[in-house]
Amino acid sequence: MPLLLPTGLNEVLDLLAEHPEARVLAGGTDLLVRLRACGASPGTIVSLERVAGLGRIEALETATGPAVRIGATATMTDLLRSDTVHQRLPLLHRAASAFAAPTVRNAATLGGNICTASPAADTLPALLVMNASVELASRRGARILPIPHFVLGPGRTALEPGEVLSGVVVPVPRGFTFHHFEKVGQRRAMAIAVVSLAAMLAVEDGRIREARLAWGSVGPTVIRSPEAEAILRGGRLTLSALAEAARAARRAVAPISDIRASADYRRQVAGNLLLRLADLPGRGPGD
Ligand SMILES: Cc1cc2nc3c(=O)[nH]c(=O)nc-3n(C[C@H](O)[C@H](O)[C@H](O)COP(=O)(O)OP(=O)(O)OC[C@H]3O[C@@H](n4cnc5c(N)ncnc54)[C@H](O)[C@@H]3O)c2cc1C
Repeated sequence: MPLLLPTGLNEVLDLLAEHPEARVLAGGTDLLVRLRACGASPGTIVSLERVAGLGRIEALETATGPAVRIGATATMTDLLRSDTVHQRLPLLHRAASAFAAPTVRNAATLGGNICTASPAADTLPALLVMNASVELASRRGARILPIPHFVLGPGRTALEPGEVLSGVVVPVPRGFTFHHFEKVGQRRAMAIAVVSLAAMLAVEDGRIREARLAWGSVGPTVIRSPEAEAILRGGRLTLSALAEAARAARRAVAPISDIRASADYRRQVAGNLLLRLADLPGRGPGD
């Protein structure tokens, strides 16, 4: 198995152009497990491990406002240690803290989590509600795609041959009062999500100005429910409004039954997680 260890992004792109069948290796926490499970020869592997600067996290000013650019090989531990992520993208910070356990977090990268395109990937619901985009690089040039245009289905992305995900640009959410991430798994640590919810709410004068909600593990990709968001928008953050939004959410999701949970259980929990928003600290009295 040839393992290629380029040290710069251009070198990665040259190698991918020369070896169109090659696989990209980041932290290996998904790819190596899969290769081991299928027992097939992996073919050429282009590792990102030695590419300098590919995991850099930086605050930016864009035409539409402040953003954070996170390099593809930033690990979950890097996200947790970054003050920029903690302060500007608290939702992503929460998703990273719900991720596996320290040993896996030290290796698993943000780029790998996105490219795995698992409906259960912990960072995807958070990136979706923050309207994040991925940067894709190849010898043909660079392009930027919003997450819903990149993640196409379970394990399916819009990555083309010769392309590598080089980074993620996340607009800094402004004016949001609550940034909430919750994951229901079979255990507290090292558990793949049975259902997860990322929610951002902007509450002004007691009314919800904006609601963004995305669920993981309840469909072929991470799912938003515009109907549930519209139910909450303009009203108060009360248990009855959340219960109505929860009914809409249960209609929006399309879970499957698998070894971890039944479809019915997942549908029920997807709605129930919304009810938890009634307990957010600082919410004030509701009904
Ligand atoms: C014990 C264990 C626990 C886990 N727990 C969780 C969990 O709690 N939450 C969760 O979401 N996931 C979990 N996972 C899954 C896995 O850790 C994540 O999906 C991880 O983020 C993958 O990142 P990686 O860097 O290890 O990717 P890799 O395994 O290196 O790659 C994964 C896939 O993405 C491609 N790829 C990686 N980076 C790029 C890039 N920059 N450009 C193009 N293609 C790329 C690879 O070719 C491969 O197809 C767990 C895995 C294990 C083994």
